[in-house]
Amino acid sequence: MIEDQHDFGTFFLPGPTEVRREILAAMTKPMIPHRSVEFEDLFARLQVGLQKVFKTNRPVFVCAASATGMMEAAIRCSEPGRILSLVNGAFSERFAHIAEMCGRKVDRYEVSWGGVHTLRELEDYLAARDYQAITVVHSETSTGALNDIKSISDAAHERGVRCLIDSVSGIAGAELWTDSWELDYVLTGSQKALALPPGLAFGVASATFIEAAERAEQRGVYFDLVEMAHFAARGQVPSTPALSLLYALDVQLQAIEKEGIESRWRRHRTMASMTDGWLMECQQQDGIDFQNIVEPGHRSPTVSTIRLPGGTNAEDFLRRVKSLGIWVASGYGGLKSTTFRIGHMGDHTPATLEKCLSACRLAIRG
Ligand SMILES: *Cc1c(COP(=O)(O)O)cnc(C)c1O
Repeated sequence: MIEDQHDFGTFFLPGPTEVRREILAAMTKPMIPHRSVEFEDLFARLQVGLQKVFKTNRPVFVCAASATGMMEAAIRCSEPGRILSLVNGAFSERFAHIAEMCGRKVDRYEVSWGGVHTLRELEDYLAARDYQAITVVHSETSTGALNDIKSISDAAHERGVRCLIDSVSGIAGAELWTDSWELDYVLTGSQKALALPPGLAFGVASATFIEAAERAEQRGVYFDLVEMAHFAARGQVPSTPALSLLYALDVQLQAIEKEGIESRWRRHRTMASMTDGWLMECQQQDGIDFQNIVEPGHRSPTVSTIRLPGGTNAEDFLRRVKSLGIWVASGYGGLKSTTFRIGHMGDHTPATLEKCLSACRLAIRG
């Protein structure tokens, strides 16, 4: 049985995120054969829910992998040719690295951590060289910066270049319209704004992406999107699905349907602006020099990276927050000793976030 450890609203990592008990409990249901009517019913229901989350009519591929798997799938299933990777943090760098390790020639359009990519510079890169595809991260979880995905994708398309989008901490928290924005490929994972346990990766590919993918050599087997598309057309999956996680997804999709995806996006925006308001209060009322490392207007609705006042020991700060019953995350990579991150995503609400922010304020006062 699920242990009664604590009530929901204490765990604010930007992945994995806190999972509600109802979702955890759903995973204790018995197995079913995956070549069965029962599975096809379940999978068909999941497709309806996932399509609403991705705003698509295309099949949503569901893979037993962490999100990185579906990043690799994007590269392996892309036609031969040079790739331009838009890098502004750890995960966008990972996308570039995956492309290189899959044998691609990769150029990087790099901006500083916390920054976003500009159309003007992107257009310069695209004009300078022939690219087959660009890779880009929607919500860069290592910094909390949000890229303007629609404009970036449009700019790539202007040049006949495909756009591969990592929306791991975006989907289900940040606005994204796969079909009406004409996106080629969007991927996410279960443990971020979907607020499920880790272990599932999802991807949507446009019809033209799949057609072109058939020309990509050495797609491998497990992450072959063409194979996934063939099976999806019959309402099936290529290999044994992670059934227990699908049960959890089933319950979560019902909850998301009830809330409405657009309300869910709104709730995330509210939590981000609440965090911004709180930062101002800390500065103005308490003289605490907290700074969001991302410029206003480019902040992700799902995660905030906050620079600690000079001289604060980040580890001590996190320990003090934890002693108040709240988990927040350390900064990522080079930002580890100077920042911390709050994941205000998934099933968190302004009410649970309030508790988190209060704890952070108490902790910084010493
Ligand atoms: C978490 C994350 C990933 C990697 O996900 P895994 O599930 O750990 O493979 C990739 N990109 C972004 C933006 C993420 O937030």
